[in-house]
Amino acid sequence: MLTCEWKRICREGGKTWGLQKFGECHSLDFGAIEHESLHFVFNYSVGENTGHFLAEGVVMYFQKQSNYELAYSFPADTLKKLILEQIDFFSTKNSYPVSGVFVNFLIEKWGLEKFKTLYIYKNISNGFKTIYNKTIDEIIIDFKEWNKAQLPTI
Ligand SMILES: [Zn+2]
Repeated sequence: MLTCEWKRICREGGKTWGLQKFGECHSLDFGAIEHESLHFVFNYSVGENTGHFLAEGVVMYFQKQSNYELAYSFPADTLKKLILEQIDFFSTKNSYPVSGVFVNFLIEKWGLEKFKTLYIYKNISNGFKTIYNKTIDEIIIDFKEWNKAQLPTI
């Protein structure tokens, strides 16, 4: 049974209507299929990840549904809790676009291969330390600095 509902929530990229599920925005033109297919393809080729933040973030990144302004204003402590799965990803407002920007940061700064290694790490804190030689707090500070540099200058 399809439990999603159609709502007018997408305003970027020429997409004016979207399929909303867990606050996630999909385009009408097979966006949901594209989104779920990206999960399947990435998980099939890289491995299963138990965390929602990186799993949704990599799909948002590939779908280019990032919002730098929104991510920059997102509270660092909430971001940390999301990454560490201390709060529910699906009920946290703006978790999807923020996860996309965060994955964009990791891949742009350190490359896709290191991200793939992090993606399958069971303990994400240990993953950051082992792969990037940084604590979760250091990663978030770096992310905020990188994110600030992505904001449009007026
Ligand atoms: Zn998803």
